[in-house]
Amino acid sequence: MDAAAERHSRQVRFTPLGPEGQTRLAQARVAVVGCGALGSAAAMALARAGVGHLRLVDRDVPELSNLPRQVLFDEADVAAGLPKAVAAANRLRTIDGTLSIEPVVADLAAANAARVLGGVDLIVDGTDNFATRFLVNEFACRERLPWIYGGAIGAEGRVLAVAPGRTACLRCLVPEPPDPGGLPTCDTAGIIGPAALVVGAVQAAEAIKLLAGVAPSGRMLVFDLWEGVWRTVDLAGLAERGCPTCRGTDHPWLDGRVGGGTAVLCGRDAVQVSPAAGARVDLEAFARRAEALGRVTANPWIVRVVVEPGIELAVFADGRAIVSGTRDETRARSIVARSLGA
Ligand SMILES: [Zn+2]
Repeated sequence: MDAAAERHSRQVRFTPLGPEGQTRLAQARVAVVGCGALGSAAAMALARAGVGHLRLVDRDVPELSNLPRQVLFDEADVAAGLPKAVAAANRLRTIDGTLSIEPVVADLAAANAARVLGGVDLIVDGTDNFATRFLVNEFACRERLPWIYGGAIGAEGRVLAVAPGRTACLRCLVPEPPDPGGLPTCDTAGIIGPAALVVGAVQAAEAIKLLAGVAPSGRMLVFDLWEGVWRTVDLAGLAERGCPTCRGTDHPWLDGRVGGGTAVLCGRDAVQVSPAAGARVDLEAFARRAEALGRVTANPWIVRVVVEPGIELAVFADGRAIVSGTRDETRARSIVARSLGA
């Protein structure tokens, strides 16, 4: 028995997957969007299951408050300050060095959706906000790609495998995205790690089933670990009606008609300022200029500057900036404007 066969021998022995299912996993290309709690758990399970190509998409860096639930990171990653996508890729390569792992340090947006999500067989939602989820849903519906919706808050979680044209999509379920601040977040309501780990694990299982050729159930799992309640919700009625995104050609987020600009980052005292489409920053040049602004630390992906006591500006090569130490979007915009001239 070769090493790969030995490694996966126990899951191949599980008859519904079998050697044929394992071969499909090895040939599969999966994008995990967001490498936080859900993305960490799902990506780790998919890598260990032998999914041949994993693209890890994330816009952020690991922080100490992530460690209770973001299982791909440790204290050394927080100290190193590498982007989550890069740190996660490094970790997964130590788990299975034969896999193809592709880190993408980017903030998924209408302008880059085709580049960030293109060329995969399935997408796993590891995001923490509805704007990004709607983009994923619209891209997946347009390209007829399956994707796995997941969410966790407090001790609760939900998972739905979306197969466009066969199941309900996110817009069928949530016709209008909630207003910013209109829903509890991990910031306001908190979260316990196991809730996120369960969601990530179920997402990975749903992904493995779809990749192995199993038909989607069309049912959404909803659970509350604190109350000990688990149920599934049949969405067949919603799927039958469909919506303008999964039944038609309406893609308002993908077309850039809604969304964009600034966002207060979930669970952080920080604001992200997104650039206009196609913007790039010469990080080396900026690192030199930034010496005038304050203390600079730089790596090939991020330049950080302490612009004021307690306020740090982090600039990425794709033109994004994250201002830490404030939740004031206007103030963040002004700091970015005066630091980057953007
Ligand atoms: Zn729909």
